[in-house]
Amino acid sequence: MSTTVQTFPASLGEVLASADAAVTNPDVTRTRANITVGQALEAEEREAVRRSVDAQFPVVSAFLADSERPAAHPVSDDDTGHFPFCAPGLCVERRTADSTFTEHSSAPATLPVPAGMSGTGPLLSAELYANSESVGVSFGFDAGGEGVALDSAGAARVIESVADFLEHMRALHAQMLEGASPKLTAWVRDLEAYVEGEADPRAAYAEVADAIHAKRRCQAYAWCIERGEHDDHQGVALEVTVPGGESPYVNARLLAFEKRSEVIGFCESDLTPGQARQEAAKLREFADRLEGLAAVAEAGR
Ligand SMILES: [Zn+2]
Ligand SMILES: [Zn+2]
Repeated sequence: MSTTVQTFPASLGEVLASADAAVTNPDVTRTRANITVGQALEAEEREAVRRSVDAQFPVVSAFLADSERPAAHPVSDDDTGHFPFCAPGLCVERRTADSTFTEHSSAPATLPVPAGMSGTGPLLSAELYANSESVGVSFGFDAGGEGVALDSAGAARVIESVADFLEHMRALHAQMLEGASPKLTAWVRDLEAYVEGEADPRAAYAEVADAIHAKRRCQAYAWCIERGEHDDHQGVALEVTVPGGESPYVNARLLAFEKRSEVIGFCESDLTPGQARQEAAKLREFADRLEGLAAVAEAGR
């Protein structure tokens, strides 16, 4: 199994690009892909037998460890037995008690696991493999540990399926970008009809863009009621006005001026949050005393 840890691309675009690279460029330098199912089962069986022997016959197991474990030696890149697809440093010679053979491997094409998805991947990988003891080259195709060794026709069918998959993903991606909501799509269609219907579509477009920009909500503060380009931000005003009075006798609003922190505009002053709390306490006390006056008036003495 692959133990490769990779950094994964974040966006769908990068995943597509990566899949593209894997399909069109088998020379992409990557680490060795997962082994095929056959190889995995074989390794698992060997490991089970080894564990059983280790537990029951420690002396025998120590002897076997020295004599039977196939020794793997990297084959020199200058060796004349390499295939054109061989990747530098990946081919190994294995020796068992009764045979010696060489495994040739290409660099694997890989599709990494997208960010946010579990697993360390790769999601898909493919590589060429040849064994000096058998005839022909295998196209190893592996999906998260499940693999198969394909012949040329089988590999061509997988490539075709992946190409269809890519085309479908691209179509979905395009739809995702163009239609945030049916309402917006309809509005953009109307807008396009308006702009193209004008005598000077370029001028009409610039006019629409300016109008939209002028209505743009503040990007700095959610509480700001200013629209369009602005440096001074202000929130909704809180006001108290006497009955029949013209202007409020007390008012407050959130303010933020260019490159300075938020303040509370209170009547004619700009207060810090602490100062605003002090004023609030004074007003609360005033309200209590005002109610006290009402109670005295109601008591009538
Ligand atoms: Zn080789
Ligand atoms: Zn603002």
